[in-house]
Amino acid sequence: MIESRSKFEVLQNYFGYSSFREGQESIIDQILYGRDVLGIMPTGAGKSICYQIPALMTEGMTLVISPLISLMKDQVNALVQSGIGAVYINSTMSHEEYIQAVRGLYNGSYKLLYTAPERLSNGHFVEMCRKLNISLVVVDEAHCISQWGQDFRPSYMSISEFISQLDKRPVITAFTATATNRVRDDICRILELLNPFVLTTGYDRKNLLLSVIHAEDKKEKLVSLIKERSAVSGIVYCATRSNVEDIYELLKHEGVAVSLYHAGIRENERTKNQEDFINDKTLVMVATNAFGMGIDKSNVSYIIHYNMPGDIESYYQEAGRAGRDGEEAECILMYSPADVELRRFMIKNSEPNEMLSRIEQQKVKNHDYERLKQMTRYCTSNECLRGFILEYFGEKPLSYCGKCSNCLTQHETVDITIEAQKIMSCIIRMKQRYGTSLVTDVLRGSNNRRINELGFDKLSTYGIMKESSQVRVRQIINVLVQKNYIEVSGGEYPVLKVTDRATPVLRGQEKVTAKLQTDSTKKVAAVKTDLSDDENKLLDRLKALRKNLSNTAGVPAYVVFSDAALVDMCRKKPKNMQQFSCIAGVGRIKLERYGKVFLKEINDAASE
Ligand code: ADP
Ligand code: ZN
Repeated sequence: MIESRSKFEVLQNYFGYSSFREGQESIIDQILYGRDVLGIMPTGAGKSICYQIPALMTEGMTLVISPLISLMKDQVNALVQSGIGAVYINSTMSHEEYIQAVRGLYNGSYKLLYTAPERLSNGHFVEMCRKLNISLVVVDEAHCISQWGQDFRPSYMSISEFISQLDKRPVITAFTATATNRVRDDICRILELLNPFVLTTGYDRKNLLLSVIHAEDKKEKLVSLIKERSAVSGIVYCATRSNVEDIYELLKHEGVAVSLYHAGIRENERTKNQEDFINDKTLVMVATNAFGMGIDKSNVSYIIHYNMPGDIESYYQEAGRAGRDGEEAECILMYSPADVELRRFMIKNSEPNEMLSRIEQQKVKNHDYERLKQMTRYCTSNECLRGFILEYFGEKPLSYCGKCSNCLTQHETVDITIEAQKIMSCIIRMKQRYGTSLVTDVLRGSNNRRINELGFDKLSTYGIMKESSQVRVRQIINVLVQKNYIEVSGGEYPVLKVTDRATPVLRGQEKVTAKLQTDSTKKVAAVKTDLSDDENKLLDRLKALRKNLSNTAGVPAYVVFSDAALVDMCRKKPKNMQQFSCIAGVGRIKLERYGKVFLKEINDAASE
């Protein structure tokens, strides 16, 4: 039997929280009973505590397998700062560090060992683990095990072979933020989970306000979006490094306090940029998807995707980095059809996976194209965006959330029969061999070389929609696809084809109507409940203090205290150690280590 008191004690002493969040307690109980677990909880829900607490309460060691070497150091640092014995072994450490880590592992200094999946096939590592009495294995970002998932990592497939080499089968647990049913099945099957306890807390994050913007001039729109939000902090995600640099220069030129981050930047510069953003020295971070995982900045008020991601899983994970403090936050996706082409190009040229046969590789690519289609549908749908995402992950949502840009946009039902006829005749005259971009260009009478070379400027449909905007033509094509008058076929270069359903429309025997947007100004704005002016001044002082302490300790600022903890201090203004221990995020070790200095700062500020 589990002593329920001790679980709460560990939560309070090491992590400084007074109650569990949804799902945490039952997962911890099941692990302590010795049952395998699969936990599917959205980003920010608090997955780490689900295995860190059992790791501290069971005999033996916990091995955490995580794909992100760059984060391991911070994760381990955060644990060490809370007084927990943890260490990592990965390819970034020096020989001396490695020897020291191994020595510590053998003499029992650590309860948790973090490593990357590739390490599991290393003979020395296996030999060491066989001697370490590993009683719990944690597979983080478990969706990486599935070819149906968004970041398939072949090395994950050998986890169960590694486990089978241990003398005693440990409890096996897997965690992820996003898993469709197929991925969920793969995780259970490939990791050979035994009658696992599967917990899904649900994908809905009610404080996220979702919106999609179709802008003709994306750069101009981006600048105005950022300027409207100049008081709060946010992340702009771009698809490529060069996009990141472009947008960074643009915003800097506009006088925005901005940092940038992508895998091509030198490590010390990357770390500095990250810290500037986390400590609110800069308010905007422009980054590729390399930025953000495991970074616990709780006051990110908006995420703007300057480019559409390749799939809903990635989108929701990245967007989910907003509003971790529970305050309302915006997730804005700037859709442009060029992004679809870019993503298709990226799928086509993605590195072949050597562990897969050619047929399997093709299969993975086909899934990627399929997921891209769903992502594109999200951007072009008129239905509730929250509903779309929840349905994608297998939930049954309400059809109206009242908070996304589609729910808040006025739509009117209009007759689009004539436009449909024009578009579909044009597709037929172009021999049904081209995609949306070229069809749109021909309809709008664009003067580009390809059109002239193909002789499409001689077609009777050339320029018959000259007066319509590009966005409008595309919107109507999307409607016709959704209503099955037009079909999109082909993976790499999708082409538009007219279906049999279209015949009566083309003959003038059937009308087509569509719900189209009337008002293009979509207003989805987050409401911020802010601190008072004095409290904000105190917050600045506490941040400066945190910065000093983190510099001295050589750890990122949020490892000392999260923003949420500092804000809680500003609201509660504790006067003694007892009151200080009630601040969210203050455990026993942090109370001892930092309580006095922070109390002094708070008192000093009050008396000034
Ligand atoms: P995930 O891995 O699910 O994205 P984390 O484990 O990083 O989430 O936790 C997100 C944040 O929530 C962290 O700041 C963590 O300290 C905090 N947190 C976790 N559990 C609790 C809890 N029971 N009470 C308060 N805060 C919590
Ligand atoms: Zn909605």
